[in-house]
Amino acid sequence: MKITGLSTAVVEANLDYTYVRLYTDEDGLEGTGECFPAPGLTAILGDMEGLLIGRDPRELERNIRYLARKGSGAGSSAGIIWNAISGIDAALHDIVGKFYGIPVYQLLGGKIHDSVRVYADSHAGENKSSISAMHEKRVPKWMKEGEGERPPEIYMPEAYAKRAKEVVGKGFDAMKFDLDYIVIPPGDELYRPLTNTELGKMETVARAVREAVGDEVDVAWDCHFRFKPADAIRIAHAIESTNPLWLEDPCPPENWRHIAEVKRASQVRILTGENLYLVYGVLPLLEAQAIDFIAPDVQKCGGVAESKKIADIADRYGVSLAPHNISSPLGLMAAAHVCAASANFAVLEYHGLDVPFWNDLIEEEPIIQGGRIAITVKPGIGVTLNESAARQYAKPGERWFRE
Ligand code: MG
Repeated sequence: MKITGLSTAVVEANLDYTYVRLYTDEDGLEGTGECFPAPGLTAILGDMEGLLIGRDPRELERNIRYLARKGSGAGSSAGIIWNAISGIDAALHDIVGKFYGIPVYQLLGGKIHDSVRVYADSHAGENKSSISAMHEKRVPKWMKEGEGERPPEIYMPEAYAKRAKEVVGKGFDAMKFDLDYIVIPPGDELYRPLTNTELGKMETVARAVREAVGDEVDVAWDCHFRFKPADAIRIAHAIESTNPLWLEDPCPPENWRHIAEVKRASQVRILTGENLYLVYGVLPLLEAQAIDFIAPDVQKCGGVAESKKIADIADRYGVSLAPHNISSPLGLMAAAHVCAASANFAVLEYHGLDVPFWNDLIEEEPIIQGGRIAITVKPGIGVTLNESAARQYAKPGERWFRE
């Protein structure tokens, strides 16, 4: 079996859902993967087509190592080259699973979990919005002008508590909210220490959510890398009594010493990893025992196989797997295979709560039912893009596969 071509398509949702499809000479067999959005991503994918044509898709690791080698000067240690390769890796797994008639988790050692627990990213209360790969706000055709604005009321404890109850009402028993946006607008930098008033606001919001959902629901809090260790420690102490599931990205992860400092200072569990690439990227944090959860993004960190390697190595360090995810159902299901096959899996992110057509993007029934993804026995990734539905939201200026 040989790869005969590559094509891409982009759905303009809350983010760019970027698909890559590989074609083979095997009786119409093809595979589709999803990539984490990046500027110029479909052009990078297009540049990789010639490298893949004629290669055997069953040589999963060999193909990925080849692409990494060819991209060595263009960013193969970390960066958006890997957003592209991650989608290709998923497409290859999709092809190989379909070829052998087995689901992707079988290629990863078989399943350990029969279903995958999902947590709903609940942002900061009401949040229908859409952003480009460079985080510019935009109004795609499925949003009304003015939607996506963030008035100050949405950062009040009442708004968070209301949203938390709504999310529980949708069947989730785990959720995550933005904690930093309570004091700093998205996109702004904080160039000073937190004030006591700001810290008090964060604490009040965390308490309001805990009171709204009770003790049985897990609640995590995201800081988007905004704080110095001293302030991150103050935040951890402020929300500690609400028993959060984790505090996410309290400081930039590039300096693992900062993350380790926060972890040592409180009982609150720490998660990071969404902007890290490959096993190499997470290893310093693991070796420093700086985190409790690792959050590789399967559409970005190197792919399905690399995510499984990250999970297994993290397991040896006593760290749980909680993948970051902002994808469509196709990418979420690819990630679910990794989770199902990983002993240390805890919970997987779902980021499509405010995308009205999220479930319509695949031909199958909604994959999340009662806050869980049932592990499919269908070959490959096991979900099929509903192209007539997805095509309606195609990003202007991008090709739609081979059209
Ligand atoms: Mg995050």
